[in-house]
Amino acid sequence: MKRIAVLTSGGDAPGMNAAIRAVVRSGHYHGLEVYGVIRGYTGLINGDIRPLSLRSVGDIIHRGGTILYSARCKEFQTEEGRKKAVEQLRKHEIDGLVVIGGDGSFRGAQKLTALGFPAVGVPGTIDNDIPGTDFTIGFDTAVNTVIDCIDKIRDTATSHERTYVIEVMGRNAGDIALWSGLADGAESILIPESPYDLDDVVNRLKQAAESGKKHSIIIVAEGVGSGVEFAEKIKEKLSVETRVTVLGHVQRGGSPTAFDRVLASRMGAKAVDLLRGGEKDKMVAIQNNKLVGIDFDEAFSMKHQPDMELYDLAKILSI
Ligand code: ADP
Repeated sequence: MKRIAVLTSGGDAPGMNAAIRAVVRSGHYHGLEVYGVIRGYTGLINGDIRPLSLRSVGDIIHRGGTILYSARCKEFQTEEGRKKAVEQLRKHEIDGLVVIGGDGSFRGAQKLTALGFPAVGVPGTIDNDIPGTDFTIGFDTAVNTVIDCIDKIRDTATSHERTYVIEVMGRNAGDIALWSGLADGAESILIPESPYDLDDVVNRLKQAAESGKKHSIIIVAEGVGSGVEFAEKIKEKLSVETRVTVLGHVQRGGSPTAFDRVLASRMGAKAVDLLRGGEKDKMVAIQNNKLVGIDFDEAFSMKHQPDMELYDLAKILSI
């Protein structure tokens, strides 16, 4: 293996830049040439592929987003599109590809390997919804952004004695809601993996008020439904003032936390090691704080589950 390339694809996540830097720097360290593909699979098909020098990734470890830009690419979903991508990789004499992205991007990477081109994945998504890895790059930063926002809402909540409903990201996975809810002492956490009982939520609000709590915070993962609609349901059952905050895209941005920078650095370097070792069709994962490479098929055969012990603990601690 002489020359490798790296791209970012799908939803962006803080820490992707730190992962790009790690791929470039550890690639150069091991004597490889490293190229960057602009705009994910779109850039691959269009041949937007450029050399990345050691210095080209200076000053990015702390920046959110991705210097390589990300994209969603319909053409890559077709066999013809993927063949064009492989042609471009061959034209640029690239021997292996690192794909930083979510599970959609990994399905694409797997299909490249099926066409005979070695590709490995690095999990980058704020949702933490990729099976087989304890954490994905960007998740910790997103949780910290959410708790920063909730802390601010808490200040005004105490002054006004209201119920606050906060909708956070997570269409299929409740990890952001769960971790931020536990970290911020929310009274109720609603996640897609566990159906909620409205009466239970209402009773907890009543008990909280009776035991002297001045305000209540309810975190709703977007996969459960709209925070606005949920607040209406609460209002119908309890005559309390409710306010809704939909956090939206702030959760995707910002400077990555130390945890994400370290995770991205380790994962980027591990991806280069996998390619150097002749591995393909694998994604980098962190399991019990050890980095491993697992087959895409193995990861796809599993189902991501948030840590339900945290869910139970949050219920206990928020009484
Ligand atoms: P994420 O990687 O964040 O899950 P997407 O699901 O949007 O984001 O996937 C990113 C890109 O990966 C898509 O725009 C498409 O080009 C490619 N991709 C997704 N799923 C597949 C698939 N099943 N086969 C081939 N390419 C895919």
